[in-house]
Amino acid sequence: MSSPSSDPGRGAAVAAAAFGDAPVRSLYVHVPFCAHKCEYCAFYSGPAPGELIQRYVDALIRELELIAPDCRPDTVFFGGGTPSLLNLRQWEAVLTTLHRLGLGGAREFSVECNPATVSADKAALLRRFGVNRISMGVQSLDEGLLDRLGRVHSRDMVFRSHDILRAAGFDNVNIDLMFAIPGQTLEVWNRTLDEALALGTEHLSCYEVIYEEDTPLYEQLKAGRFDVDEDLAADQYEVLYDRSGEAGFRPYEVANFARTRRVVETVERPEAEPGIPAFACRHNLGYWRGRDSYGLGPSASEWVRGLRSRNWSNTVLYCEQLEKGHRAKEFAEALPPLARAGETAAFGLRMNAGWPWDEFRERTGFELRTGWASDMAALVARGWGEITPTHFRLTRAGLRFADAAGQSFLRPESVTA
Ligand code: SF4
Repeated sequence: MSSPSSDPGRGAAVAAAAFGDAPVRSLYVHVPFCAHKCEYCAFYSGPAPGELIQRYVDALIRELELIAPDCRPDTVFFGGGTPSLLNLRQWEAVLTTLHRLGLGGAREFSVECNPATVSADKAALLRRFGVNRISMGVQSLDEGLLDRLGRVHSRDMVFRSHDILRAAGFDNVNIDLMFAIPGQTLEVWNRTLDEALALGTEHLSCYEVIYEEDTPLYEQLKAGRFDVDEDLAADQYEVLYDRSGEAGFRPYEVANFARTRRVVETVERPEAEPGIPAFACRHNLGYWRGRDSYGLGPSASEWVRGLRSRNWSNTVLYCEQLEKGHRAKEFAEALPPLARAGETAAFGLRMNAGWPWDEFRERTGFELRTGWASDMAALVARGWGEITPTHFRLTRAGLRFADAAGQSFLRPESVTA
């Protein structure tokens, strides 16, 4: 196998000149394949024949070549789908390409893994090519619930994969968990948290089950096979908040919790950004703060210099377009600055730190304090928001309804104005 080449700064100046601006600092790649479709999942992902996976890898390499002159990523994130489903040869082709194109060497390089598809060889290869953060989709540590969700992995695979990743040298690991799963009692949730927190990972993402149309779980709900218990979901979120805090995690976004130091360390690390714990996911911070990011692969969205666009959610179509030498865009739209600022405002509310006045102004060119005064006042009156001399942010009660709270911050009328 070849080794990653260091290629400091190659092409960055050329890129900036060609695209007329500083290169984009964030890169997302969507890998749309999974061994089996989970019952609740509405992402563009699923099983596919080996030939299509190889065709996708070839197309992705072409897409990387197309954007490389304009991208020098500080953060890279391979999500899905199940990126760890790519075989060793395919991963090596992708990683070698990243380094050849000057896209390697990111400060944070995350790859999502399913516990059923982690191997020592793959972990060693990823680590050798600069991947330094793994996000593992665990969802539950209860065999019955894993089965209920249609997950392909067992609880034993989670512990085994975690050991493999640590042995390969990964010292920044996230696990995803889900709560409010039908049949998940408070006792079961507490047991999963006991075991998950004992793993000592640096990061924890916890999502409430949502019922997306066209998923088997939604159909079961519609057919009356179970009820949604909002009170239990609220209790589970409270337990999560309290227990993760006791275990050394700090919440920094509605569903995300990070440590300020590793469990084996005694000294706290510097914050990732002001008010944000050290092991927060820097790539996702960029999304919530409205920074530019390329999005590659089928169904991936991107935001680059005022233009929002998305690739086709169809892997064959995606490959065909790339084989013709151009990107596979389903749509692209330029948003007026106020509409973009409204979206950025709403998105940033998901973070515990909320919006520092200065940062919002620097990011969008608008004043949150004046342009969104009545929206903030309404949230404060409801007990969902808090205004400080430096910030606006949601309260703990408000964070649980961050999406609803952010709705009034949108300015869609400016799109047609
Ligand atoms: S592994 Fe993830 S992306 Fe794939 S079907 Fe399950 S939830 Fe969806």
